[in-house]
Amino acid sequence: MKKPLKPAREFISPSDLTFGLSTCKRCLWIKYWYKLSAPLQMPLVGTLSELQEEHFHGADMPTIDASLRPGTVTKWGEFVKSKPLQVNGLDTRWRILGKYDLVSTNTDGTIGVIDCKVSDNERDSGAFYSPQLEAYAYALENPAAGKGRSVASIGLLIWKPGTTIGSDAHSSGFGVYQKYVAVERDLPNFLAVIGDFISVLEGELPEAGAECTTCAYLLARNALDNL
Ligand code: SF4
Repeated sequence: MKKPLKPAREFISPSDLTFGLSTCKRCLWIKYWYKLSAPLQMPLVGTLSELQEEHFHGADMPTIDASLRPGTVTKWGEFVKSKPLQVNGLDTRWRILGKYDLVSTNTDGTIGVIDCKVSDNERDSGAFYSPQLEAYAYALENPAAGKGRSVASIGLLIWKPGTTIGSDAHSSGFGVYQKYVAVERDLPNFLAVIGDFISVLEGELPEAGAECTTCAYLLARNALDNL
C-alpha cells in the first residue's frame, strides 16, 4: 500500500491514544492516511453516555468527588482543537481534535476535565486512559485559537451497572455504582506517547499484529473465497 502525498486527516483523536495504540498500529496508520476505519458495533453506548453526561450538567464538583476543587460543571460535549503538536521542539502537521464529556469552571480560575464511562470493564483504570485525558487537557491548555486554560484535574467518572431498581414498567431500570478515578497529570508521558504515535504515522505501513482477531477473521474469510 502506497503512502499518499498527504494524510487524509491531520487531527489526532484522543481516543486513538488508548484503543488505537493498544492493538497493532496498521489499522491506525490506514485510518489517518486513507480515512478508512473498521465499522464499530456498539449498540446503546451513545444513549447511555448521553444520559450519564446529562446527569452531571451543572453539577457541583466536590459532590462528584471530595478531592475535586470547588467548581461547577459548566461545559459539556464541546470540540477542542490544539495548536500543532511538537516533536523534538519542532512543529508537526498533527494536532489534537476531540470532544470532551464534562469540563468544570473552578472558583480559583482553573478548570477540570471529566471523561464519563458506563462500564464494568476492569481495564478502565486511570493509567489506561491517562494519554486520552491528557490529550483533552493539552488541547485546552494549548488551543489552536484563543487563550489556554490551566487544567487542575483530569479524571474518569465511571458508572458500573450493578443493581435493578423500580417496580413498574415505567420506572424500572438499572442502578449503577458510581466511582470517580482521579488521574495524575503526566505531561511527559503524554508527550512520549504522542511522539511514538506520530512516528508510527509518519513511518511506512506497519505490519499486521499477531494477536488481533479481526485480521485472523479477514484472512480466514478471504481463504474461503479462494476455495
Ligand atoms: S491485526 Fe489487522 S485488523 Fe488488527 S489492527 Fe492490525 S491490521 Fe488492523
